[in-house]
Amino acid sequence: MQSTSAASGVETPEGPDAVAARIAENALSAVAELASINPAQLSANALLTYVGVLGNIARLVEGRQIGNVGDIARRSDTDAGFEGLAARHGSSSPTGLFEKITGVKNSTAHRYSKVAEQTTPRVSDTGLPLDPMFTQTADALAEGTIGLDVAEVITSALAPVLSRVAPEQADWAENTLLGNATGAYGEIPVTADALRQQARMFCVALDPDGVEPTAEELHQARALLFRHQDDGSMRITGTLSPEQAAQVTPVFDAFMSKRTSPKFMETEELAAHGEEPEARSKQQERADVFTPKQRLALIARDGGTCVAADCDIPAWLCEAHHVHGWAKDGKTDTTNGVMLCWWHHRLVERGEWSLTRDNTGQPRLVPPDWYVNRRYLGRRRKPGDDNDTGPDPGRDTRPRT
Ligand SMILES: [Zn+2]
Repeated sequence: MQSTSAASGVETPEGPDAVAARIAENALSAVAELASINPAQLSANALLTYVGVLGNIARLVEGRQIGNVGDIARRSDTDAGFEGLAARHGSSSPTGLFEKITGVKNSTAHRYSKVAEQTTPRVSDTGLPLDPMFTQTADALAEGTIGLDVAEVITSALAPVLSRVAPEQADWAENTLLGNATGAYGEIPVTADALRQQARMFCVALDPDGVEPTAEELHQARALLFRHQDDGSMRITGTLSPEQAAQVTPVFDAFMSKRTSPKFMETEELAAHGEEPEARSKQQERADVFTPKQRLALIARDGGTCVAADCDIPAWLCEAHHVHGWAKDGKTDTTNGVMLCWWHHRLVERGEWSLTRDNTGQPRLVPPDWYVNRRYLGRRRKPGDDNDTGPDPGRDTRPRT
């Protein structure tokens, strides 16, 4: 259809097909221009900011593609037989058609399809339109604050327990996981892998009888073996369940990594960061470190892990850090100390992150701007906040099916 009418002289509105083609082509040319940017020429901060913005673009595109796959699936309804969209184009399934159009591999297309089933509008058996199974995840995908990975973690973890828990519990779990994934509550976003472990723990808490370890997991757990070697070392083999892994990984991260043994900056390192070489001897330096009793007081005050919001490294493996540096007359007492893991301690020492106290006096690590780069169209309300009025009274409160 032509967009103008010569007879009337009035422009007819552009149809949805033309709008989609125009916007997608414009986005394609804009993204193609990124090829002119040479990352090697960027400053470190500009590079990281640039990578973060491209992450935003990737998440937005993934969210749109999930919606598209949902639509292809609805138009490929098997009731339509050979009239279904996928069948008309020689594909046995919507997933197969998506694979052909986009060039992704079969397993990737399946991931899109699974997430689309849970986050796009459904049709009831009687043909009535239904909301997506996970409306909050669908909204976050639309906003581009999460992409395929996080949507997959949340929906694949929660879908099996939905029919057995109260809707407000399911809403709380979905909302909290989304908040943790995106840093929507002012915290630092957790990684998709850490979120998978949290989601699994949520399911155990919500539905303790329902989440049985699989026969495979039980078998694997039984195979965890500790073998003493002739040279005095110990060989560990086997597989941990997700819950066991969630508890054990931070300990191993902190203890086994070469980063974790307490270490002070060397003279050349300090000079490289524009700092004065250490005036104290190594013995003096260690003597300025907090006493075991002070460390216990810090742990009691600030909690059992590194003070970084997303860090699970237990406090007993952390180092006490002077909020006001020793070199700047900071005191070695508990009012001037916080527990930081080796990694976060070093980020603060190097000035990459800063350490402040919030208005309740709690220590808070502040990352550089590029680290928290998710663009929000709306800030989520944290479940349990005072102004949380609970589930919408007009809402269907039956278990989601
Ligand atoms: Zn840490």
